[in-house]
Amino acid sequence: MADYQLIVIGAGPGGYEAALRAAKLGKKVAVVERREAGGTCLNRGCVPTKTLLHSSAIYRDAKNGTHCGIHADGIRADMEEIFAYKREISQKLSSGIESLFKSAKIDLLRGTALITGSGSVRVTDTEGQSADHTCDDILIATGSVPSRPPISGLELAMTSDELLEGCDHLYRSVVIIGGGVIGIEFATFYADLGCAVTVIEGMDRLLPNMDRELGQNLALILKKQGVQVFTNAMVQGVEQAGEDIAVRFTCKEKEESVAGEAVLCAIGRRPCCDGLFTDGLAVEMNGRSIAVNENFETSLPHIYAIGDVSSKIQLAHVATAQGIACVERLCGAENRTDLSVVPSCIYCRPEIAVVGLTEAEAKEAGIPVKVGKHVMFDNAKTLIADPGRCFMKFVAHAETHELVGAQLMCEHASDMIGGVSQALANHLTAERFCRAMRPHPSFEEAMTAALEDLVQKLG
Ligand SMILES: Cc1cc2nc3c(=O)[nH]c(=O)nc-3n(C[C@H](O)[C@H](O)[C@H](O)COP(=O)(O)OP(=O)(O)OC[C@H]3O[C@@H](n4cnc5c(N)ncnc54)[C@H](O)[C@@H]3O)c2cc1C
Repeated sequence: MADYQLIVIGAGPGGYEAALRAAKLGKKVAVVERREAGGTCLNRGCVPTKTLLHSSAIYRDAKNGTHCGIHADGIRADMEEIFAYKREISQKLSSGIESLFKSAKIDLLRGTALITGSGSVRVTDTEGQSADHTCDDILIATGSVPSRPPISGLELAMTSDELLEGCDHLYRSVVIIGGGVIGIEFATFYADLGCAVTVIEGMDRLLPNMDRELGQNLALILKKQGVQVFTNAMVQGVEQAGEDIAVRFTCKEKEESVAGEAVLCAIGRRPCCDGLFTDGLAVEMNGRSIAVNENFETSLPHIYAIGDVSSKIQLAHVATAQGIACVERLCGAENRTDLSVVPSCIYCRPEIAVVGLTEAEAKEAGIPVKVGKHVMFDNAKTLIADPGRCFMKFVAHAETHELVGAQLMCEHASDMIGGVSQALANHLTAERFCRAMRPHPSFEEAMTAALEDLVQKLG
């Protein structure tokens, strides 16, 4: 008999949730982890960035509160304490996961996993001691790591992992290469604290994978906050320039250069599976990701993969949903989550939250759609909070009236998108989603306004 029924490699949000669900469904489970429980999400991703943004928002609100009668003169941001608070939150959550493993009788095997065959995993600890473990099934949930493309001097730039380790002072200036989700959240954090921030994005707008209006509106809001934004800007090289680091780039056929005390390279992450398989054990790849079918099976029998290591969408809740779906299928249990409806949020100010298709994506896919929109100038809570231009958009199939997507850019958008995901997962029409009364005053009232606009256009 094997040591375990399931060995999960990686204790990120994909791996730890899958392990807990498998144990709940009666499997004997072990998790292999070489770093802290909680993976990228709790230690170097979602949670630390949101903790930093929480601190910087308090600072910014106190500084900018004069319009509503707050004069918090003399407030200061202590970087050591801000980063200590970030560490404290990550540690609390990470040790919470270890406690959950203990109560669920899951063995946490500390070390680096090497898959030596279907049903066998070697774990090597930091002292170089190895132990072999056997199992019926292996679930790979090894996540992703920051990638640094081969641009001259880019090693001078920090990755998000390095920047999150902290610094004892506030940088005078930060240059951020990459105007995607990670770059924008760091830009928000440093701009809140009063640091001079520059964002350099290669595509024609910030957040190039999202609805055009989101990126354009965000650029205007960031510029108003003092952030310098370059789009269509291709980085050519990075070099030391006295005490600063200079980033050279071409923008609209002009050579430009901007220097910062720190440079962040936020241009993507790559799946983490180097050295995961013993020599001679080849798994089919899909580019740099491990290839899986709709049941998360890899090309090797009894070896599954979920989360950032194999998924097109690299988000914590996607990793979790895939991990749970995978083990539920393995255990013969019913899985109820619609994995095709994926909300995605950016914790800038105002927040951005999207789900489903944009108008452009629907058109490209040949789906006839109508769009309803509401700009929130008349929304009382938005007027009070004064975060800049906010709006909501809903996209519905022109014939069936079924909602196919939504884009929200407003305060608390990340707390509202779950409700919209519910509507999409349950195939609600615009008319049906419009039926509920929404409280006043609330940001959510704007949903009714945008949906009413949509219903009118659908006719
Ligand atoms: C700065 C930043 C901010 C982010 N913000 C958000 C956000 O707000 N919302 C969101 O949804 N997503 C966010 N993400 C993405 C999110 O963190 C990832 O999508 C998520 O962590 C992926 O989960 P995972 O379980 O697949 O892998 P991971 O969380 O990467 O965990 C993988 C684990 O496997 C371990 N491991 C790897 N190889 C081995 C091995 N051979 N042996 C043993 N252990 C191994 C690693 O140490 C790691 O702990 C953010 C990411 C970053 C970098």
